[in-house]
Amino acid sequence: MKLLVILFFSGLMTGCRGNSSYSVPPKLLLVSFDGFRADYLQNYEFPHLQNFIKEGVLVEHVKNVFITKTFPNHYSIVTGLYEESHGIVANSMYDVVTKKHFSDSNDKDPFWWNEAVPIWVTNQLQENRSSAAAMWPGTDVLIHNTTPSYFMNYSISVSFEERLNNITMWLSNSNPPVTFATLYWEEPDASGHKYGPEDKENMRRVLKEIDDLIGYLVQKLKMLGLWENLNVIITSDHGMTQCSENRSINLDLCINRSTYTLIDLTPVAAVLPKINITEVYDKLKNCSPHMNVYLKEDIPDRFYYQHNDRIQPIILVADEGWTIVLNKSLSKLGDHGYDNSLPSMHPFLAAHGPAFHKGYKHSTINIVDIYPMMCHILGLKPHPNNGTFSHTKCLLVDQWCINLPEAIGIVIGVLLVLTTLTCLIIIMQNRLSVPHPFSRLQLQEDDDDPLIG
Ligand SMILES: [Zn+2]
Repeated sequence: MKLLVILFFSGLMTGCRGNSSYSVPPKLLLVSFDGFRADYLQNYEFPHLQNFIKEGVLVEHVKNVFITKTFPNHYSIVTGLYEESHGIVANSMYDVVTKKHFSDSNDKDPFWWNEAVPIWVTNQLQENRSSAAAMWPGTDVLIHNTTPSYFMNYSISVSFEERLNNITMWLSNSNPPVTFATLYWEEPDASGHKYGPEDKENMRRVLKEIDDLIGYLVQKLKMLGLWENLNVIITSDHGMTQCSENRSINLDLCINRSTYTLIDLTPVAAVLPKINITEVYDKLKNCSPHMNVYLKEDIPDRFYYQHNDRIQPIILVADEGWTIVLNKSLSKLGDHGYDNSLPSMHPFLAAHGPAFHKGYKHSTINIVDIYPMMCHILGLKPHPNNGTFSHTKCLLVDQWCINLPEAIGIVIGVLLVLTTLTCLIIIMQNRLSVPHPFSRLQLQEDDDDPLIG
């Protein structure tokens, strides 16, 4: 009897352990194809990516943050913050206090990155977890004294295959296990700048190469047995729009170069005046009808681009497709960085894995919403951020969500049922309370009797 009891309880314990799949930490791979404009998905063929989406989710437009440039938006994805809050406010920056410069080739100083905590750092603070990165902006920098446990120093000459090989190796054989990994690729941004997004022939070729890389990624994850348990997000930082030689704004025609320092040029110029700010502003504000000129304090609230020392006293924002130049010819046919309300500036997001629904399409989220969603998937406590977790609930299998049309349908349905019930009750009550005509007649007869009598 004693033996039976011991066997029963040991069996129960084993059973409990066997079911505790929750003790295995979830894993997430975040992939960015730089400059993947949202509507490329509608205008070109992506057989591999479409297969990925068919078994997962698609967000057709991701509203990114202003300015719609590479470093700022990649940092917003992994921090959930607007640029004024995470401090990477452009690809080229200058800090007036420390006199430090930042550019895409001079980005290793933690000073620029330490205003926020990216998700790979938070992930590693959890017990028994590590992070890995293949060239995502900032992952080769000591941010809050931490790099991912596994990372590659940025080099444009390293192939996609080599980046992916490292990531899959780290995801397969690391201790503590890699639970968050990120992978970055420079295309289709580079070709978008070179040809412009309206060059269908060249873009078709470039985007087919991207789709082949996605096919290779999925195939490799399947081959290594990583596919079923891994959550994969494929997204981007911004879109791309067509530029033209005929749409350039030459600052040299409006203002003497000796009166200001140009920190960043186009399509959002950051101007640090050397003389009186108002004097520089007055010369620039009438320079072109295709450019908005803002004093820092007048930058529209919707840009969330004001409250940071690295934002310069005057910014110029070119209209879509216009390029700000300094008296020289245009070098690129495509560009981004413009107003983040322009659909051409938006990227997309697709995701696949155990955390995501299958075959679900969603119209839009904000780029800052990706961070709280990733924290939820990984079971991490998010740092304060500008994202809204509920915006991504419909993408996730463990969340209850109803979208707007469904909600309207339910409300109308409930109202119809309530109205019908109310009508029925009123009709029934009326029937019960109206006296039977014969009984009234009889009463009258009864009343009349004594009179007759
Ligand atoms: Zn980019």
